[in-house]
Amino acid sequence: MSPLAMRNWVPQVWPLRPGKARNLTLLFFLLLLAPLTLCAQHFNGDKALNYAREFVAIGPRWPTSPGHLKAEQFLRDHFKHDNVEEDTFTANTPIGPVAMRNFIVRFPGKKDGVIVLSTHYETNYPLRTINFVGANDGASTTGLLMAIADQLRGKTLDGYSIWLVFFDGEEAIQTWSASDSTYGSRHLAAKCGRDGTLGKIKAFMLADMIGDKDLDIERETRSTGWLVDLVRQAAHKYGYDRYFFQTEEAVEDDHLAFLDRGVPSIDVIDLDYGPNNSYHHTAQDTLDKVSAHSLTIDGDVFLETIKEINQR
Ligand SMILES: [Zn+2]
Repeated sequence: MSPLAMRNWVPQVWPLRPGKARNLTLLFFLLLLAPLTLCAQHFNGDKALNYAREFVAIGPRWPTSPGHLKAEQFLRDHFKHDNVEEDTFTANTPIGPVAMRNFIVRFPGKKDGVIVLSTHYETNYPLRTINFVGANDGASTTGLLMAIADQLRGKTLDGYSIWLVFFDGEEAIQTWSASDSTYGSRHLAAKCGRDGTLGKIKAFMLADMIGDKDLDIERETRSTGWLVDLVRQAAHKYGYDRYFFQTEEAVEDDHLAFLDRGVPSIDVIDLDYGPNNSYHHTAQDTLDKVSAHSLTIDGDVFLETIKEINQR
């Protein structure tokens, strides 16, 4: 029904004085708009999914591949008007030295201190033979952070500064071990330790594999307790309890390098992907397994957690 039709319709049903009818019409519109206003408060998961789709379209992006260079260029182009640092380094890997590149996008805040929100963006070198695009594993959370950036841009934030970090080299080059994995985060944590910025980081949050349509984020057992509690509270506020922390497990991931250096850190990860985890690190990890709804949940919860950290 068009607004005009409704104006005509209301007085006919309730034959009241014109003034009252107008008031009722107004009330009617307000009631109609109320749910829209509530919806507008949700994070735009569709936008995050669209970014993820663009990123996946690059194809596989394993270290040393042409796709990796394209992924770098994609991030460089996207954040060209932002305060972005390209953190380049050479990783010593089982296949020899490999050039890697983290991207750090900084959004300034009024409070002294930093909240880091991070993901990894590359795909697995060992999976270069199977056209692995990591739609959930790497791309979904890259899209998520890009959509979050859209909410942070163009103003000085009231709370702490926010750094969005896109790590390179999370995946093992050969076989996962402490020395063959998480190259980007280990490099950046060490660098922040040397230049003194580590002490400014109030909280480090990692997003990994949480574009999964069937979202069940586990409680990573080494993650910092108060940060886990804040994420749980944020999820509860939106009625998302069932998606969070129904199971728990220790997971080795990009948060450990920061956690081990005393930075409060959490890995927000869903390591149960597909039936019996059958989509994880397989050619099944494609965009049809990722949903805008899950990314809306993620965005809502991260932004709410950031608010809570700022009030802490
Ligand atoms: Zn992975």
